[in-house]
Amino acid sequence: MHTQTIAQLARGLKNRDFSSVELTEACLARIRQHNPALNCYISLTEEAALAEARAADARIASGQAEPLTGIPIAQKDIFCTEGVRTSCGSRMLDSFIAPYDATIVSRFRAAGSVMPGKLNMDEFAMGSSNETSFYGPVKNPWNLQTVPGGSSGGSAAAVAAGLAPGATGTDTGGSIRQPASFCGITGIKPTYGRCSRWGMIAFASSLDQAGPMARTAEDCALMLQVMAGFDPKDSTSVDVPVPDYAGALNASLDGLRIGLPREFFEAGLDPAIEQLIRAAVAEYRKLGATVSEISLPNMPLSVPAYYVVAPAECSSNLARYDGVRFGHRCANPADLPDLYTRSRGEGFGAEVKRRILMGTYALSAGYYDAYYLKAQKVRRLISDDFQQAFRSVDVIMGPTAPSVAFGLGEKSDDPVSMYLSDIYTIGVNLAGLPGLSLPAGFCAGLPVGLQLIGNYFSEARLLNLAHRYQQVTDWHTRQPTL
Ligand code: GLN
Repeated sequence: MHTQTIAQLARGLKNRDFSSVELTEACLARIRQHNPALNCYISLTEEAALAEARAADARIASGQAEPLTGIPIAQKDIFCTEGVRTSCGSRMLDSFIAPYDATIVSRFRAAGSVMPGKLNMDEFAMGSSNETSFYGPVKNPWNLQTVPGGSSGGSAAAVAAGLAPGATGTDTGGSIRQPASFCGITGIKPTYGRCSRWGMIAFASSLDQAGPMARTAEDCALMLQVMAGFDPKDSTSVDVPVPDYAGALNASLDGLRIGLPREFFEAGLDPAIEQLIRAAVAEYRKLGATVSEISLPNMPLSVPAYYVVAPAECSSNLARYDGVRFGHRCANPADLPDLYTRSRGEGFGAEVKRRILMGTYALSAGYYDAYYLKAQKVRRLISDDFQQAFRSVDVIMGPTAPSVAFGLGEKSDDPVSMYLSDIYTIGVNLAGLPGLSLPAGFCAGLPVGLQLIGNYFSEARLLNLAHRYQQVTDWHTRQPTL
């Protein structure tokens, strides 16, 4: 069963080929077998999952099933789950049991899906390799010596290895798309405001967005249908209608205008990846699209602007972990400053501390204008570039990442080279746009992702484009041998 997509599993449940209890047991058995090597799950919730599966079977029997009823969907450990440890990959929250469910989690529960456990991630979602987790690195199932990407590396590895048919991810600068690319799966980062952030532990609030990760665009459509929509508890969620994502998957691509940004194909991109991306674009031509070159002139500034804005927001968001109300508290504090200093010093890892220091510096009175304000202006220029491009094209295509999965430890001592792995994804977050990554081939045995970027709230169109490509190619059907 671990080779099937969510859509196939849903048909199997509907036809009573197997029950949700059988499906969940098979999923849990596979997790027990392969998680020790992959390390994608931080926490397993086996008993609760089986109870949910029994409830799902009853719901299916009563004819009340929804598309995801009875389907195992694992949650990134950044989403609060009532009564279950929610660590965010950090020692700071190692013993934190969330008192409530994130909106995204409650929506999956209401849809009747089953949660097998919580997935590993970079600490507080800061990273591109899943190596900053307090719980140790996740391994890429295609090659255990390489990283799965980050920060949703546990989600991507679990789906690729068949340890969950679908998983949630979050994307602040590329954390759904880059690991999807490295692990050969499909993932979409929706428009900022499309999915609720309530109960999703904040990293950089103006950039963070939740999204689905699965094998196919069709599966992502089924998951996004559950996740998307206005939430009165999140003032940045947007009250616009949620379209029928699955219903739009087969729309025609006739007359579709594709733009290829010159800046995405310059030095730094592996030539073998470029070849695969151009071959994928050629497939779209066959499906009726036209292609033109465009320019996003401020693109090269996206990584520097992001590494001012994101750390600034994180330094403020992470101020709440003070050892007083929840999270790690040091032993025997001498006084209040000692409590703060040691609790935070012990609870946070090196990358999180680096971000807090950078952000605090950029927001300090003397440097606010020079860094934070400047970065916000650059951010506007970047989103203006996209709007300019969308006057002449419907979708922007390019690589998701400049390389395939790199070796474990290869970039750990070089933060700047690590930061550059998000060079094609980060601008999308700064602009708040939706972006999707889908498998488009292999280089040296490792998956390569094609990125699709659309205008605001064009998720249905992006899923449609990915689905049509997946109807004529089979990259998304390849699975690693474990
Ligand atoms: N890799 C980027 C960072 O480290 C993006 C992370 C993310 O999208 N959560 O900040």
